[in-house]
Amino acid sequence: MQQLEGTIIKGIGGFYYIEANDTLYECKARGVFRKNKISPLPGDRVKITVNEGAENTIDEIFPRRNVLVRPPIANIDRLFVVASVCEPRPNTFVIDKLIAIAEKNNIEPIIVITKNDLGDSSQLETIYKTAGFETVITSAETGLGAERIRQLIEGHISAFAGNTGVGKSSLLNAVDSGLSLRTGEISDKLGRGRHTTRHVELFKVCGGYIADTPGFSSIDFQNAEKILKDELPFCFREFEEYLGTCKFSTCSHTNDKGCRIIEAVNEGKIHPSRHENYVTLYNEVKALKEWEL
Ligand code: GDP
Ligand code: ZN
Repeated sequence: MQQLEGTIIKGIGGFYYIEANDTLYECKARGVFRKNKISPLPGDRVKITVNEGAENTIDEIFPRRNVLVRPPIANIDRLFVVASVCEPRPNTFVIDKLIAIAEKNNIEPIIVITKNDLGDSSQLETIYKTAGFETVITSAETGLGAERIRQLIEGHISAFAGNTGVGKSSLLNAVDSGLSLRTGEISDKLGRGRHTTRHVELFKVCGGYIADTPGFSSIDFQNAEKILKDELPFCFREFEEYLGTCKFSTCSHTNDKGCRIIEAVNEGKIHPSRHENYVTLYNEVKALKEWEL
């Protein structure tokens, strides 16, 4: 009998696969988790007992940094929000929504701009660097940015998000040549029509883990989590220094008189694109009530 600490890579049919000291162990969860209605999740740091000639068990789940319900996963450190300079054209609303979801869940957003060989990244770079994000310009053609992405993956659990065709698979292939992911497919294998629960796995890449569904289809974060309107301003990190300083304490920062955030936009301190998307997102979440979540 041996006790080890490791990370849950995946769970299938009541079994959990835990990587500990570079070895994979199949384990069952102790009954106490079921009793307390706690499900072990991919990403969980756990203590396990490895038995000779008997089932291995998960004995303890360490406190989580975060938990996503849909898709079910714990402890994501970083969300790489991937957009391309052209084809598909970058949509800053999608980017800002993904960033907000990450911020709400204590996940560090990293902005990745792909296909720099096909266009000019500077506009997107300005928006996201001004807002205070690590922004990496990449090209799968030239290898630009791959080394930085490797460094950011190492030692962390990461996920990639971004529309089909932005170049996520190509980027990962450039980062780790051992992956050989298929690219350029408008794949509908995991199409929206199917309602089967997609299980999430962690894949070892460059000394870290990438959370994904088998086959690298990338997790759908856009529909994953809901944000309340009162939380939204805190999901735009460059707003934070102004929060609490508007004329009215109920200020929604959308068009209100005496809004410090709108002033900061006019002074060129907050990028108008970020504020515009905040307003659109605000109107989207306004209708949501806490009990609906
Ligand atoms: P994914 O759906 O986000 O995984 O996107 P893919 O990696 O499959 O890429 C979609 C298409 O864009 C493919 O035809 C790739 O060859 C192409 N592509 C991806 N990255 C780059 C890049 O940096 N430069 C160029 N020129 N083409 C790229
Ligand atoms: Zn305001």
